[in-house]
Amino acid sequence: MTSWPRPDDEAERVRELEELHALDAVPEPQFSSIATLAAHVCGTPIGLVNLVGHDTQYLKGRHGITWTEMDRRDSFCQYTICGDRIMEIPDAQADPRFRANSVVVGEPYVRFYAGAPVVSGHGHALGTVCVADTRPRLLSDDQRQALTTLAGNTAGLLQLHHHALRSEQMLARMREVEELKNQFLRTVNHELRTPLTAISSYLQIICDGDLDEATEQRFLRVIERNSDRLRDLLDELLLMASLNAGTAAFAPDQADLAALVHRTVAALAERVRTGQLTMTVHAPRAVMACADAGRVQHALTQLLDNAIKFTPPGGRIEVAAWSDPAPTVEVCDTGIGIGAADIEHVFDDFYRAPEAEERAIGGTGIGLSITRKIVELHDGTVQIDSRPDKGTRVRLILPAPLPCG
Ligand code: ATP
Ligand code: MG
Repeated sequence: MTSWPRPDDEAERVRELEELHALDAVPEPQFSSIATLAAHVCGTPIGLVNLVGHDTQYLKGRHGITWTEMDRRDSFCQYTICGDRIMEIPDAQADPRFRANSVVVGEPYVRFYAGAPVVSGHGHALGTVCVADTRPRLLSDDQRQALTTLAGNTAGLLQLHHHALRSEQMLARMREVEELKNQFLRTVNHELRTPLTAISSYLQIICDGDLDEATEQRFLRVIERNSDRLRDLLDELLLMASLNAGTAAFAPDQADLAALVHRTVAALAERVRTGQLTMTVHAPRAVMACADAGRVQHALTQLLDNAIKFTPPGGRIEVAAWSDPAPTVEVCDTGIGIGAADIEHVFDDFYRAPEAEERAIGGTGIGLSITRKIVELHDGTVQIDSRPDKGTRVRLILPAPLPCG
């Protein structure tokens, strides 16, 4: 055989096979039942349900043959899928297209072939239901009709299993969303309740009176700190919602990341000190980027907040910024690190690694997801690298200033 027929819709046809997950969607026993039925109805020793891939033909349902796939060039079915109706080869040895075919001159010595195309709802012939015999012959009209009907049922079966697969995937996604919602409610409930409880307890003590002025001032500062925490949390939640909805304000301009690093670090110096940590900054020169300085400062604050709270006393935090090959800001810590199984989720909304929960380190699980969304707004990238008990390194890579004009 020298030519290798391809239907006009070959690309779309193969794409549909992939989209339907046809090669794994339907369990083989169901295809094999159809193959057996086809062989019985047509009175042939061989019955097959084949799916014709780009280079390979997959024998998904088998009766009288044990192979699971064959080279498409040896396939009779590649001719069948070029048409929209049954193809019958009464004697392969008398047909120049098949005379030298390896399944004609060798096992299983096919002489007779009849195949009906399995046509999808989109009109693409994905494969065939076919029968073969070792002697020349013809099918009766009833047998042809039966083979065509079985091919139609096979197409229906493929579609059905595809829908079942989609439903399972949607169900799994819905379960994930449900779990996320529960996680959100648990975390937000806890994160809101803690400052609220503190505020109402201290207020109660102040209202009860009998406090000296210094103590009352101290308690008022506690109340102020907790209400700031509540406001920050609500701001973060609103920011996340607007970033998700694509409505967050975004104004990129020429921005110096080094200056931004110094500003952000200075704002957090007190927390670094109370956490008994050492922080070093290496950003000696201007690092110009095309960035919304406010948004990037917010993202960097999230990284530093994490480095501070996930690094036990005595640990180190290093912050650096450089221009080459792209404007980059890096935060490195020697903290508790993140396990391999968690690292791929830490940018998801509300995700917190089990260690954060176990060690009762506060947080809502939205800092990194906000960071990633901010960086993506800039068409930049976030890289994270972490090892449990060794530390974490996060890099924000932003676009160079030229595109801002
Ligand atoms: P939030 O930022 O909303 O206050 P959070 O800090 O817990 O809460 P993210 O900043 O989104 O949430 O981080 C998600 C999770 O990734 C954290 O809960 C923690 O498990 C892990 N993580 C992030 N940064 C670090 C880090 N530097 N060291 C160790 N674990 C980290
Ligand atoms: Mg955080």
